[in-house]
Amino acid sequence: MHIYQLLLVGSIILMLMLIILVGMINQKKQIHYAVMGIAISLLLWNTSVLAQISFPTTPWILIVSEKGYFAGIIFVSLAVLLTGLIFSQIRIQLSWKYALLLIIPMISLIVLLTNAHHHMFYTTFSLIPSQQDFGFFYKIHTVYSYLSVGIGLLFIMSFAVKNYGFFSRQAFLIFFALMIALVADSFSTFHIFNWSAAVENVIFSVTVIIFILAIKKYNFLSVVPIALQTAVDLISDVFVVFSEEFEIIDFNKSFDMNWDGVERRAGIGQVIKRNCQSFDEEQFYELVNGAAWKQTKEDFEIERILMGNTKYYMSEITPIIVKGQHVGTIMLIKDITEQKNNLEEVIRLNEKLQSLATKDWLTQAYNRYYFDERLEQAIEQLQYSQVHGTEEKNFSSGLGLIMFDIDYFKIYNDLNGHQAGDELLQSMVEMVKTEISSDDVLCRYGGEEFAVICAHTSIDNLIITAENIRYLVEQYEFKHQETQPSGTLTVSVGVAYCDIPACKGSDLIHEADQNLYKAKNSGKNRVVV
Ligand code: GH3
Ligand code: MG
Ligand code: MG
Repeated sequence: MHIYQLLLVGSIILMLMLIILVGMINQKKQIHYAVMGIAISLLLWNTSVLAQISFPTTPWILIVSEKGYFAGIIFVSLAVLLTGLIFSQIRIQLSWKYALLLIIPMISLIVLLTNAHHHMFYTTFSLIPSQQDFGFFYKIHTVYSYLSVGIGLLFIMSFAVKNYGFFSRQAFLIFFALMIALVADSFSTFHIFNWSAAVENVIFSVTVIIFILAIKKYNFLSVVPIALQTAVDLISDVFVVFSEEFEIIDFNKSFDMNWDGVERRAGIGQVIKRNCQSFDEEQFYELVNGAAWKQTKEDFEIERILMGNTKYYMSEITPIIVKGQHVGTIMLIKDITEQKNNLEEVIRLNEKLQSLATKDWLTQAYNRYYFDERLEQAIEQLQYSQVHGTEEKNFSSGLGLIMFDIDYFKIYNDLNGHQAGDELLQSMVEMVKTEISSDDVLCRYGGEEFAVICAHTSIDNLIITAENIRYLVEQYEFKHQETQPSGTLTVSVGVAYCDIPACKGSDLIHEADQNLYKAKNSGKNRVVV
């Protein structure tokens, strides 16, 4: 057997392998059919050459293989053009624009099949370039073929340059593979080397090997090529692209280095779940599908326990829509642990600040500053409701102020020490707080004197509250109270009430203070209204 025959058989086997490989891919897309077109055309071309060499004396085989030889040549360039277009994300539609591409190959085919009558395609067929003798139409066909292949290659190249990254590798490979075939073919077309067409065809097997390599090693044909810039490797945030089937297509270094189980074609949901126990996979799939459907971005938070610390991430998913079709999703994961912790700290400090600004440090009753504010506010409300008549003028529409002062506190301090005096103030506030209504505001007016603002109350209820405070203090068993002159700790209470719009805060305080003074002077442990 001739060495060429052996090599041709080898290259035919490779082509069959490529066809089977592509044929086995489920859910074929346009790119699969285009590559299949290249493989079938090359197969036709190669088998024809093999037949020519193997049966040089069988006329019918020679006639059939001559036609097969040219038919292969005619369609391989169209297939290369379509591969280039589809590879760079152009969708081929059934339209006049694309149908035009078929015109010349179709005419070529007709001219070829009817060649015996006009010899417009060729006069003498030979596998040796110098012995070939072609008709004028062959020139049209050649120009068309080189243009098609050239444009196809340009598209692949520009895609590779634009999307420099993982996918550019498959693009460069495909480009390189087709380039080899193009160069080999041009050597015989332009009679640079006077080698047999068999040599050229054997070189095509290199093209086919590279195609198989690209499919196997770089996922060519099995994933949609999606842009990935080298820049994403430099950012600290996670960048990951996954397919409609939630398979990871591409990712940046940050994802690879900081997350477990990251690899191409792994399920994105499983990978996140593996790193974050509390992650809800089902909810995530729903969110992604929803975002694709609505064509909008979606945000969600992820919590992750990393070496005993909780880390917080903000994740943003963006569906990739190419010409109205959802082809995949971009996901960005940003570490927001620091911001989150800072925010919590700010909230905590704010609460503390609020408390410091409005509460008395020792007793945790409201302070004088807050008292003044609330009293002013209560007066404004009283005036507003009375002028606008939002509240019926009834017995519960007035504003009450209760002031009370501990009796003989100086003595308590002198006998039990200031420390005990402080503790007494604390326990008194605690006790009174639980007894008054939640709308009432208890403030430390100064020293051992307290004030309670009772908004929206009636004079009767106010007196009840005041009497209640006095009574409860008298009844309550304070520490060391037996040292007091009356044998128990008591308070004197002064009350003021106002239910007219002309009410003034200073008057109210003055009146309550006066009444407190009266209570002190008339024997203490009593309420004066
Ligand atoms: P009266 O029955 O007339 O109210 O007599 P009194 O002794 O309670 O009143 P006086 O105004 O003579 O004394 C008030 C005392 O309260 C004096 C002061 O040492 C004490 N006092 C004021 N603020 C504090 C405080 O924050 N802690 C302690 N332990 N004592 C305080
Ligand atoms: Mg006192
Ligand atoms: Mg006092």
